[in-house]
Amino acid sequence: MNMMTRPPDQAEREADPLDALFDTMFRPMNARGVYARTGAYEAVVEALAALISAKREADTEIFRFPPVMSRADLERHGYLASFPNLLGCVSCLEGTEAEILAMASRHGRGEDWTEGLRTADLVLTPAACYPVYPIAAARGRVPDRGYRFDVACDCFRREPSRYLDRLQSFRMREYVTIGTPEQVAEFRERWLSRATALADELGLSYRIEQASDPFFGRIGVVKAISQREQALKFELLVPLRGEDSGTACMSFNYHRDHFGTAWNIALADDAPAHTGCVAFGMDRLAVALFATHGGDLSLWPQTVRAALSL
Ligand code: AMP
Ligand code: ZN
Repeated sequence: MNMMTRPPDQAEREADPLDALFDTMFRPMNARGVYARTGAYEAVVEALAALISAKREADTEIFRFPPVMSRADLERHGYLASFPNLLGCVSCLEGTEAEILAMASRHGRGEDWTEGLRTADLVLTPAACYPVYPIAAARGRVPDRGYRFDVACDCFRREPSRYLDRLQSFRMREYVTIGTPEQVAEFRERWLSRATALADELGLSYRIEQASDPFFGRIGVVKAISQREQALKFELLVPLRGEDSGTACMSFNYHRDHFGTAWNIALADDAPAHTGCVAFGMDRLAVALFATHGGDLSLWPQTVRAALSL
C-alpha cells in the first residue's frame, strides 16, 4: 500500500496537511479512523456514488452488502493466510440470562466484562467484493458472456491511524467481473481508462502505479513480490502530501483463479473462473476532493461541481 509511513510517536506529534480539514469532514467518535461524517462530506460521497453509477456497464447486476459476513466464508476466501492482522471479528455475550447478566454487571464494578465474549459466526467485511463470489458459485457454471457485478459495502480493516485517509471503517464500491482470463483482462483495461477519466472529471491529480497488497508477515513479502511480477494490482494514487506521496484511492485487481478455485466457480470448459475488480475507496476519494479543492464546496471548480451535480 502506498502511504507515507513514519514512526508512530513521531507521526503522532507532526501536523498532517489533512488535519486542517477535519472539522469540515468529520466529528470524533472516540476511536481512531472511525468518524462521524458531516453533511458536506456525505453530500460529496453521495455525489461520487451517483457519478460511479452513471459509468456502470450494461448487464451489470447490483448488490449492496451489510457490514458483516459469514466467518466461514471469509475463511474459505483465504483471508487468514493473507491479512489476519486486518480482520475484525464479531464477538458477543452468549449464554443463559444469568450468565449474560453476570458478565455485563462486571462493568459496573469496574471489572473486565469482555472476558465473557464468545467469537460469533460473523466477521466485519473487509472488502466489498468478497460476498459476491459465493453468490456466483451457487448458480453453477458461469455463462459464456461472464458476470459483471456492482457491489458496495461498509468495510472494516484493523489499521488504526491518525491520518484521515486511513480509516478503520470506510466505504468501498466495486465493479467485479467473473469469466475467462481474456474477459477479466479486457475488463481491467476498460476500467483503467474509465477510472482515470473519472479522476480527470473530478480535477484530481494522480498517477497509476503497479502495487501489491499488504500481505502479512515475512511470507507476505514473497507474495507481494510475486503479485508485482505478475502485474496483478494497480492503484490510482492521489498525491495528498506533496508530489512524492500518494494515497491509493482506487485499485484495479486481477485475482487470477484464486476465488474461482476457492469457490468452485467453473467456466463452460470446467476450468476455474478468473475474477477481477476495480475498487473505489469512497472515503479516500472524498478526502482527496476536499484536500484538492478546499473545504468550501461553493468554491470548487465549476467543472468538478458540474460532474458531481453539486
Ligand atoms: P484494496 O482492496 O486494498 O485495494 O482497497 C480498495 C480501496 O479501498 C483502496 O484503493 C482505497 O481507496 C480503499 N481503502 C483501503 N484501505 C483503506 C483505509 N484504511 N481507509 C480508507 N480507504 C481504504
Ligand atoms: Zn474486490
